[in-house]
Amino acid sequence: MKSIDTKTLQEYDRRYVWHPFTQMKEWEEEAPLVIERGEGSFIIDSDGNRYLDGVAAIWTNVHGHCKKEINEAIKAQVDRLEHSTLLGLTNDKAALLAKRLVEIAPPGLNKVFYSDNGSTAVEIGVKMAFQFQQHRGGRFARKTRFISFTNAYHGDTVGAMSVGGIDIYHEVYSPLLFSTIKSPAPYCYRCRLCAGKDESTCGLLCLKELERLMAAHADELAGLVIEPLVQGAGGMIVQPAGFVRKVRELCDKYDILMIADEVAVGFGRTGAMFACEKEGITPDIMALSKGITAGYLPLAATLTTQRVYDAFLGEYKELKTFFHGHTFTGNPIACAAALASLDLFEKEQLLSNLQPKIDYLKKRLSSLKQLDHVGDIRQEGMLGGIELVRDKETREPYPWEERIGVQVCKEARKHGLFLRPLGNVIVVFPPLSISLSELEQLMDGIEESIREITR
Ligand SMILES: *Cc1c(COP(=O)(O)O)cnc(C)c1O
Repeated sequence: MKSIDTKTLQEYDRRYVWHPFTQMKEWEEEAPLVIERGEGSFIIDSDGNRYLDGVAAIWTNVHGHCKKEINEAIKAQVDRLEHSTLLGLTNDKAALLAKRLVEIAPPGLNKVFYSDNGSTAVEIGVKMAFQFQQHRGGRFARKTRFISFTNAYHGDTVGAMSVGGIDIYHEVYSPLLFSTIKSPAPYCYRCRLCAGKDESTCGLLCLKELERLMAAHADELAGLVIEPLVQGAGGMIVQPAGFVRKVRELCDKYDILMIADEVAVGFGRTGAMFACEKEGITPDIMALSKGITAGYLPLAATLTTQRVYDAFLGEYKELKTFFHGHTFTGNPIACAAALASLDLFEKEQLLSNLQPKIDYLKKRLSSLKQLDHVGDIRQEGMLGGIELVRDKETREPYPWEERIGVQVCKEARKHGLFLRPLGNVIVVFPPLSISLSELEQLMDGIEESIREITR
């Protein structure tokens, strides 16, 4: 059975699809790759061309595309139950998965609230923290605001945007957003605090400023939102070791709930199951999505502690209920995929087998520093960011209009790679299951594409 030809599919796309984060005028002038199949680390287009998936289906894929065990779990689930609802009922897979998530989460997180994407996972965390303070009552009821970081990304719904800090995405919506307090994120030479001295100085100065803001606003702060260890969409900016732990301490000191957005870094990406684990901390609320179903289906979970949960308990007429929910909350097919993924983490000892790949990635990334137009190199476990700069000495960036990142990623297709940049940063975010030789192919292609475009 030969399906519809590529040209027709491209035409349908052009006519009917509005793409995310895409200038459609430009899109309409191009012929997009039409992906029809996936196989391990590769995606395959309608003409049979294979591309190594360097961004893991936008940071979601864990065990490779079309992984047999997950496919089978989904097929089996479809024949048992496709969906019911968590409103007034539960289902076996949602209950099983919640137990598994609590078992692997940082100790103390023991309640799971489901939704279906990263933005809602964060938004739920924000609403939970807000309402928690209301239920505490008294002077705590004045704790209604949030502190978050410059350059942060927490999703695109209105609440998630409000705690975000990437102006190019959020500026136009600013009249819609609630006001938050923004603390400088360790961004080294760009947070302008440390004047580019070094990362740990930068981290210390950012923490000092954070404490100053927390102290000044403690009475009105309900929660803090952070992408622990790495700011993803902000350019794969890695925080200095110890930063997150110190943020946790400050949240305790000023009685502010810590919301960790692990949507991008959760499920093994940093080399540990969760980024917070690497810093030895438990947040009060943790948002999970992207990797949770290994890239198969939309699912998200917001985990929290007994303390937060208990504040919502009461007689119905007290109206302490958490009035939030989504239609597909706890969907059993998505939960079955997530359970199969967690089984694979164990069966394939995925995390302990990552180290050689992380080491190899480190070696290849650091050798890129020799290139004339490579600025900052960032890595945390199996994620990397390669910043391209016009002038290496002055760190003068390429003008954003030039879209050097997009150019490099287009070039990379000639090398059989699919990549998606973040501004002038080339992102390295392959499926965790990638083999060493595929990783070599990925890094060779990236290096050659950078050389070619910045020549
Ligand atoms: C992708 C992402 C989100 C938003 O998730 P969606 O599923 O796209 O809504 C939130 N936070 C972080 C850190 C992310 O990387």
